[in-house]
Amino acid sequence: MVVFRAAVLHNAAKVVLWESVCYLSKLDACSMPCDVKPRFLVLYGSQKGQAQSIAEGIAEEAEEQGLVADLSCLNENEKYNLEKENAPVVFIVSTTGDGEPPDNTLQFVKRIKKKTLSTDHYKHLCYALLALGDTNYANFCNCGKTIERRLQELGAKQFYATGYADDGVGLEVVVDPWLEGLWNAIKGALSKMASDRTAHLKANAEDSAKETPDSSVPDVQINLLSITDQNCESVGAAVVTDSKFASAASSSASVASDLRPASPAGSHALASQCHDTASIPTSAPQPQSGDAGVSRVVLAASLICSLPPLSESSLNVPALPPPYLDVSLQEVDTIEQIVGPMIKETFHQVPISKAVHLSRGDSVKTALLLELDISAYPTMTCQPGDSFDVLCPNRAAEVDNMLIRLGLQEQRNQHVNITLRKDTKKKGAQVPAYIPQNISLLSLLTWCLEIRSVPKKAFLRALVEHTRDSVQRRRLQELCSKQGAADYNLYVRDPSLSISELLAAFPSCSPPLSLLIEHLPKLQPRPYSAASSCLAHPGKLSFVFNVVEFPACTGRPAGRRGLCTGWLFDLINPSLVLPGKAESSSSPALPKIHVSLRPNCTFRPPSDPSVPFIMVGPGTGVAPFVGFLQQRAEERQRKPEAVFGETWLFFGCRHRDRDYLFREELEGFVSSGTLSHLKVCFSRDDRGDEESAAPQPRYVQHNLLLNSQHVTEILLRQNGYLYVCGDAKNMAKDVNETLIEMIKTELQVDQLDAMKRLAGLREEKRYLQDIWG
Ligand code: FAD
Repeated sequence: MVVFRAAVLHNAAKVVLWESVCYLSKLDACSMPCDVKPRFLVLYGSQKGQAQSIAEGIAEEAEEQGLVADLSCLNENEKYNLEKENAPVVFIVSTTGDGEPPDNTLQFVKRIKKKTLSTDHYKHLCYALLALGDTNYANFCNCGKTIERRLQELGAKQFYATGYADDGVGLEVVVDPWLEGLWNAIKGALSKMASDRTAHLKANAEDSAKETPDSSVPDVQINLLSITDQNCESVGAAVVTDSKFASAASSSASVASDLRPASPAGSHALASQCHDTASIPTSAPQPQSGDAGVSRVVLAASLICSLPPLSESSLNVPALPPPYLDVSLQEVDTIEQIVGPMIKETFHQVPISKAVHLSRGDSVKTALLLELDISAYPTMTCQPGDSFDVLCPNRAAEVDNMLIRLGLQEQRNQHVNITLRKDTKKKGAQVPAYIPQNISLLSLLTWCLEIRSVPKKAFLRALVEHTRDSVQRRRLQELCSKQGAADYNLYVRDPSLSISELLAAFPSCSPPLSLLIEHLPKLQPRPYSAASSCLAHPGKLSFVFNVVEFPACTGRPAGRRGLCTGWLFDLINPSLVLPGKAESSSSPALPKIHVSLRPNCTFRPPSDPSVPFIMVGPGTGVAPFVGFLQQRAEERQRKPEAVFGETWLFFGCRHRDRDYLFREELEGFVSSGTLSHLKVCFSRDDRGDEESAAPQPRYVQHNLLLNSQHVTEILLRQNGYLYVCGDAKNMAKDVNETLIEMIKTELQVDQLDAMKRLAGLREEKRYLQDIWG
């Protein structure tokens, strides 16, 4: 950025005017030979890195678009100043938990929510906002919506419609078109801001000319423009290119044409690959009758094989992400394998004291309970409603596989040195902070990188550069292209294909280790809700989970288990106590695992025990409520004179005999009066004649409806609480809709009013969710 000091000019306003004209002409037609790149600001708030990577993508593409982007995380407030910002601002923000801002956005949200800010605080600000969320969770895109509402209340003006991207159906459905339209919107905003400034300055200049025609002007610091050596042609080209895909495609036109099987030989190569894949088609090949009445086979598309029109179309592919890391391996004398690197301070290694198989062997899902002995760690003592993180490694076999795939199995114990490439074009590039220095290659792949994560399109694009076979290159191009979006969803995203599975399907692809470190996210610990009360069972902490099963699919010849649940299952399998069986003293000792507390300050039983509350927790969603009820039972014993409000639990599962979790304990709570009402339903058991007068409820929401009067009475008249825990995909949404219906009927109001009433309960923190998917 070059700063002009116009100390001796007769009229500083004229200087700024000239620059604004230059700005405009630059944006309009690039007809003047001026070397100016307009600037804008990109701010992101990100929990898992998705918003950050979109923001980085925007910053990277800015240059191709003839613009300069300043990129900052929202918590780096020393790097930007919205109070003085005179360029367009683009916000990319995700939402986490129950509609909370990401950790690195909390302070920003707090700042802009201050009641003391005036309604014109951000009058000068022009913004666009992309909110990321997941409709499976409550408060969809809540952080983005909160920021937007506050910006508008403080006078900021929107220059481009807000995008609300839904991870539940695929972020790219909204993100891709939003990004395509963004560039023209930024350019339009820049033009408008420059012409507003021109008009303003012109008016000022005329006024000051009238008032003091000969006055000299004091020193003026002009800090509006960047001067670069880029010529106007490329900027002009960027102006007409409104899509990042289009610009990337034009810059890599040779890629698209290279890889399209233009010649019969190319077509043949593709066809032969399709034949190869016929052993794992997505659907059986359909025999069809040709013109001559001869049967021919229409091949099915698969992960590695496409059909027309995709296989014949030109592709718009994303720009190649600039590499930014230099990675080298170094031989060392001593081998210190790091376990759970970087997090030793927050994680405690605790013994598993009990492992119980809660569901019956013939149940569709395997539900397990683990009890941890936390007596050595008083800081792990939790409240009902809290959850905690479990640290799990990548599977040894998958790490080995990856080492072989990278050709680095001999170097597994060497130290990995990672530095930033000096010549990188990546904006805000940093060596990942979660990778310790001098970590061994084996530890890096075991503890730091989520090698199971679904490769993003930018990663696929980068893999193309490391793929020898032209047919495979073409298919990778398709999968990351705009035209191949449906195939990407079908073959990569929906089945949660991992990078190892993808590499197995594309054998000629040999990425360097640096590419994996650049593109794979940090291996995240998995959270679990406490299913016990530390008041009732001091020194113990239990949790319950279903072992996640991923079925086989194209690209995954055999099914696999979830990373953490599969690992836990293998750890405890030899000592597992089966349902109805007593613990055996001869069982092998149980291992230790790394855990860390995640307090949840809102999902807690009411602080006043006389307030009634309702719990809805089908399947493993019952976990925190077992903790609630254990706590309540203990409190009732300790304070028999206290008044305790009614408690309701709605539980559901498939079969009464196979997966009714905690049956005995729950029935015991009813007998002791701790639980006033236990309402259960079994979705796959014979529920009687559906036509009969009193059909059995199938799901928890049906049972809620059957008890509508009580539920609404507690919620709407007795200031009671309602808690929902478990599957985010269907259950939480269905319960939400049912509650709206119940409020409609009970209060005789329309849909909108009922929704408002429910939103009010949420705001009062009397309708609380702890859901996962
Ligand atoms: P992963 O390997 O991480 O795979 C799971 C992912 O794959 C999910 O995103 C899922 O949508 C997806 N997936 C699952 N099956 C398939 C499939 N067939 N095809 C494609 N994709 C699939 N879980 C519990 O069981 N009990 C709890 O008490 C509990 N409490 C939680 C509390 C909180 C606050 C949160 C955020 C989550 C909680 N979870 C709980 C979820 C838990 O953290 C894990 O996500 C879950 O156990 C799966 O972990 P995993 O590593 O085995 O699976």
